[in-house]
Amino acid sequence: MLDKAKAINEQLIAWRRDIHMHPELSFQEQRTGRLVADTLEAMGIEAQTGVAKTGVVGFLGEGSPVIGIRADMDALPIQENHDVPYASQTPGVMHACGHDAHTAMLLGVARLLSEMPNRPAGQVRFLFQPSEEWLDSEHKSGGMRMVEEGALDGLDAVIALHVASDAPTDRIMIDSGYITASEDSFRITLTGTGGHGAYPHQGTDPTFILAQVINAIHGIRARRIDPTKAAAISIGSIHAGSASNVIPNKVELTGTMRSFDDKTREKLKVELAQALEVARALGGDFILEFTPGYASTYNDPAVAGVIRQATEDLFGAAALLPPEAGMGAEDFSYMTRKAPGAMFMLGAKYDAVNRPHHTPVFDISESALPIGTALLAEVTCRLLRQHAQK
Ligand SMILES: [Zn+2]
Ligand SMILES: [Zn+2]
Repeated sequence: MLDKAKAINEQLIAWRRDIHMHPELSFQEQRTGRLVADTLEAMGIEAQTGVAKTGVVGFLGEGSPVIGIRADMDALPIQENHDVPYASQTPGVMHACGHDAHTAMLLGVARLLSEMPNRPAGQVRFLFQPSEEWLDSEHKSGGMRMVEEGALDGLDAVIALHVASDAPTDRIMIDSGYITASEDSFRITLTGTGGHGAYPHQGTDPTFILAQVINAIHGIRARRIDPTKAAAISIGSIHAGSASNVIPNKVELTGTMRSFDDKTREKLKVELAQALEVARALGGDFILEFTPGYASTYNDPAVAGVIRQATEDLFGAAALLPPEAGMGAEDFSYMTRKAPGAMFMLGAKYDAVNRPHHTPVFDISESALPIGTALLAEVTCRLLRQHAQK
């Protein structure tokens, strides 16, 4: 499979560069979606467009089992600052997370599998989703909408990859269990009467209340959550007041909460409201606005095991780097809650320079493209065979 992927290397690079030069923001992936649909159809693969607004689903083969492979297609509102011939041609928009490479690799998988003379029986579903990075006005991401619209119905397993710009190019990271966190944001308004700075005793001061509230919020992780469970709470902004001798009548703060399991996620929410009761005890009040974000991603141990074994067989055991779960969020989570699934990380370090995701200097090594393509295709074939036996 690796040889076959290497043989289409030029094509993989051409697709990736074409998409990189024409990045599109979340739920605006019209050109990318058209390129995907046209390319699939040219391979003889039926393509359904307009799924989850701008997503595309390709169907190869029929019957069961059904294995899904997912790629995300959206770019970010960032001005690219990397002088390469394939740099973004759209000012202020850039593929700074590698979703261009994900899309190119999934097209490569479609080509390898569609040209495979003895492909295992069953259906392969190519899930090109829009908007991984952003939620629309109804608080839904591309992955959520793909699941809602039935693109994953009947799937026996679903797999995906994500490039990692800080890991060496010939390395793979795959873990079982939680790999990314759930993510919820909050906005708190603390209120008091405010007043004259010289006469604090005549009213209630929300900045004093704030000091106690911050303690109470940071006490949640330390004192109210099981120490063996992953959780993080961070306050990201605090705004109050405008003059040195005026006690303001409100303080506004925002922050984010992260966790792996749903019980801890719910507990964080309850404890946050409880911590804010400090404001009332001190004579003030609070308003808590809560915005739920992505759920956590759970890698199914059996599917992750197939990926690990295929990596060893294709590239040798040395290709496996110890995986590191993180408290970042990923909307592949909704797919892993619909069907047993797993995502692996594909090392794709461009050069010695640090090129973090979501920054203007982000880039990946294109020599990772055939590696990711081969592994996705190989794992898909193994999953088809495995589920056919059941
Ligand atoms: Zn991203
Ligand atoms: Zn990403």
